Order: sequence, then structure tokens, then C-alpha cells
Amino acid sequence: MQRIFLKKGREAPVLRGHPWIFSGAIEKVEGDDEDVGVADIFDSQKNWIARGLSNVKSQIRVRVVTWKKESIDRAFFSRRLSQALSPRERYLSATTNAYRLINGEGDFLPGLIVDRYDDFLVCQFFTAGMEMFKADIVNALNDLVDVKGISERSEGKVRVEEGLEPAIGGLAGETPPETISIVENGRKFLVDVKRGQKTGFFLDQRDNRAFLLTLARDRRILNCFSYSGAFSVYGFEGGAKSVITLDSSRPALELAEQNLALNGFDSAEGELLKGDAFTYLKESDLNFDLIVLDPPSLAPRRSDINAATGAYKFLNLHALKRLDPGGILLTFSCSQHLTADLFQKVVFGAAVDAGRKVTILRKLGHSIDHPVSLHHPEGDYLKGLALRVLD
Ligand code: SAH
Repeated sequence: MQRIFLKKGREAPVLRGHPWIFSGAIEKVEGDDEDVGVADIFDSQKNWIARGLSNVKSQIRVRVVTWKKESIDRAFFSRRLSQALSPRERYLSATTNAYRLINGEGDFLPGLIVDRYDDFLVCQFFTAGMEMFKADIVNALNDLVDVKGISERSEGKVRVEEGLEPAIGGLAGETPPETISIVENGRKFLVDVKRGQKTGFFLDQRDNRAFLLTLARDRRILNCFSYSGAFSVYGFEGGAKSVITLDSSRPALELAEQNLALNGFDSAEGELLKGDAFTYLKESDLNFDLIVLDPPSLAPRRSDINAATGAYKFLNLHALKRLDPGGILLTFSCSQHLTADLFQKVVFGAAVDAGRKVTILRKLGHSIDHPVSLHHPEGDYLKGLALRVLD
């Protein structure tokens, strides 16, 4: 095991429970000369403070997994998984069989995501440290959760930064079918775990979809950035007069059409639109009573923030203009680097420029299976506002 000593004054965040240690905080390293491994963390006075998974190739040199002197092994992962499983089993509705089982730092397992889709688990091992314990984690999952198969979609930017190749495929049990049929709050959806976005479905929006259901009666809804069409399904279910489902991706629209049909809603002519939401909102001459704006992250890097705030403002401004008096806007940002405070300011600027008077009905976030560690506010990526325009 490595022993990593922090520079004087750099131990405070770790002591307060933040899991990331950047290479610049490190004074010296003793012990094993390994690139990836378990490391003990000491302050500059040589007091033991935490234990984590270290990777010399990563900017985030160590991700702390415990502040206790416990072994990092299969039993450790079993304990963490049980701690994550019990609140989900307790609080998620009985009519939901798809949820996030492990949410990285939010479950004190940085670098690991596990999503459950009915009888299948899909994992994402983002860091070299978690990759090292893959077999232990898969075995622990197999012991704890009764599923037919476990597979992985370990790919993306963080893996590249960790010096890892993508890893996609089966890990245990049966390979998942091409599409898995899941149930969310009693509604049915097809999930493409092999090619779909993220691990196949945007589980983080579950509660916001349920909220939309309560607002939808007799409304003309526009669902922008619809992906699987999940917000549209809830809209129809809630008694909407019409729902336009808009996405730039044809496969996404095909999936949305299938999901609408699966729940008994046939799409009328012009209700499934392939197009750019920015252009549509600016140029359409239709007005709506309720608009959903759920774009992909427009600020994937911190340096994108300025450009992204402009794009969020544009979207929100034109969406607010398209609403009739009393209309509702559910607007989201899933950009980790854009704080809730800044997002609200951007939306405020959009309201002023659109010449609308707007109230916040509710602040929105991720559902209960996406916990955020209080010690790691960076994990709070999804922020949303439910707004109502006056006149
Ligand atoms: N609201 C969805 C998730 C949205 S993910 C849900 O509840 O599941 C973002 C979606 O935006 C993707 O499907 C992507 O294809 C789409 N997209 C990206 N850029 C777009 C653009 N400029 N116009 C319209 N759709 C876009």
C-alpha cells in the first residue's frame, strides 16, 4: 500500500469529507511503486486521515473511499452496496423497477455507477481504482441483488483521463437483450442498454416526470430534448391536449414513438419532430401551455461556462416567449459546472429579455436514487426550475 503525505494546509477538505485529492496537494509518496492502488493518506504531521484509491495518471490522484481504517476488499464493497441498496428499496415506489443503485461519490464509491433495469444491472467503472476492484464489486453485486445479468458501459471522458480504454460488455450472468422493458411509476419504457445514452435511460428525471403529470391536464405541451420521450408519456398520461416531442436524433425519436405506443398513445401527424430545439423555439409560430427544456450538458468543461450560459439563456428566452399567459416552463441544466445559483440568474436574464414576469413554482433536482454527498457538492449536477409566466 502507498502512503501519501499531504502538503501543510491541504488536508482540510479531506478531513471535512471531500473525496478528491489532486496531485498538487501531495507533498510526498512512500511505499509501493505502483501506478494504481490503495493508498493511505496522512496530513503533514504524519497523522493518518483517510484511505483511498490512487492513480498516478489521473489529475485527481486519489479518490477517498473511507475515513476509517478498514480494508478495501469485497467485504468493504458489500457494505457500501448494502448501505446504498436499503434506502432505495425503502423509498422507491413499488411500481418502479429501474433505478440508480450506486451514484458514485453520492454513495461514497467515487468512480462507480450502477443502474438497475428490471433484471439487469449496467455498471460504469470510470476510474482505474474502481476498475481494479471490478471482480470484487461484481461478485458483491451478485450476492446482494437478485438479477439475471450484470454488464458494463465503461466509457467516456473520465476513463480517458484515467488512462483506461473503454470496456463494454457482459460481466456476469446473462447478456441483456437488445432492449429491456422497464416500469417507472407504472409506465412502461424500452431501454437500449447497449447503444442508448448514458446507461440507457435518464433515471435522474423520474420525480420531475411525475411532477409534470400533475401539471399536464388540458395543456398543449412541447417536450424539447425528449430522448426516450419519457416526459411526453407522462404528459399524455396527465391528460395533455397535445404533446410535441422534439429531438435532433432520429433513433431517439423512434424510441420515443415506441414508448408512447407502449403506453397506449399513438402519435398524431407532426407530434414527433426531428429538429434543433434552438431553431425550433426561435422560429416556430406555435404557442404552448407547458414546455420542457432538458438539454444535454452545455458546459461539459469548466471553460465552457461562458458559452454555455449564453446557450441556456437563448433556450430559456425563446421558450418563455412561446408560452401563453399562465404557461409553465420546466427548465433544466445537467451541467456540473453551472451552479444552481448561476442557472437561476441566467433564467432570470432570459425572463427580463423576453419581457415576461415569472414565478418559481418549485425548484427541481434529481430523484432519490441519485444522492449527492454533502461533502462533495460537485455531484449536484441536475438543477431545474418549474416556472409560471404571469401574462
Ligand atoms: N429529457 C430526456 C433526456 C434528454 S437527453 C429524458 O427525460 O429522458 C438530451 C437529448 O437532447 C438527447 O436525446 C439528444 O439527442 C438531444 N439533443 C441534443 N442536442 C439537441 C438539439 N440541438 N436539439 C434537439 N435535441 C437535441
